[in-house]
Amino acid sequence: MLSFTVLAAAATLAQEPAQEVYVETQDLGGGVYGLITNRAGNVGISVGEDGVFMIDTQFAPIAPFLDRAQRAVSGDQPVELVLNTHLHGDHMMGNAWFAERGATIMAHESVRPALINPVTANLTGATPDPLSGDYLPVINLSGGETLTLNGQTVRLHHEPDAHTAGDIWVHFVEADVIHAGDLLFSGWFPYIDLDNGGTVNGYIAAMQSIVDEAGPETQVIAGHGPMSTEADLEASIAMLTEARARVASLVQEGHSYSEVLAAEPLADFHDEWNWQFITTERMIWTLYRDVTGEIPQED
Ligand SMILES: [Zn+2]
Ligand SMILES: [Zn+2]
Repeated sequence: MLSFTVLAAAATLAQEPAQEVYVETQDLGGGVYGLITNRAGNVGISVGEDGVFMIDTQFAPIAPFLDRAQRAVSGDQPVELVLNTHLHGDHMMGNAWFAERGATIMAHESVRPALINPVTANLTGATPDPLSGDYLPVINLSGGETLTLNGQTVRLHHEPDAHTAGDIWVHFVEADVIHAGDLLFSGWFPYIDLDNGGTVNGYIAAMQSIVDEAGPETQVIAGHGPMSTEADLEASIAMLTEARARVASLVQEGHSYSEVLAAEPLADFHDEWNWQFITTERMIWTLYRDVTGEIPQED
């Protein structure tokens, strides 16, 4: 696997602390590359005679670094076509950078209205203020489309109630590469955005549908985390299925949220899956809310 890194200081870019941005370009074959950053939201690109197709655009200050990385492998072409896998800012705030340079932006049809009128209760802080203009998708997909470009059959799959209501994952069939968007947090507790139509069972089902289409050799670009495989999806499915069942069983026994927390139902998952954003406690919060339909309140 060819792998190299574009490294630059981001100190001069607005909104960003003086911190280095790494974009590691991984050649996945068939003109498909993963652009893996040390920030949120891994990007995929397809390069070839039809032009550059980019999946997700990261945060705005990262976009110039992504562009530089893709130009290094595309013969200095601009990005022609962009797909946002979903509405979160770490996957689409770079849209304007690429649209201003000629890219056409597409996403699931639920994304554009949600960017114009965002859910204010969102807990990530990643869903931006109301957006307009070059940030917005102009091709609104229903999911299930197939593109033919750069010698690849590119299947787009919509998952209606998984990480959000509008997740699309992408399969480059001949290259055997899948971009999972945020349907895979590889090795970490997943963020499931219940305020934007996500559900835990829908998230599990979405991961299963990727597994059903993937093979043992398929290279999976995770929305967050390292390059992955079907086995990583299966591990995440097993963990999340068991985690939800444990919390559901405590709820069924009549325990309050505080009692569920005190029971530490995910204690044996903590060391492997806990991380800064979705801690073990946040995962329990999500599962409790998903099971009960209520915002968890501690006694
Ligand atoms: Zn994300
Ligand atoms: Zn997301």
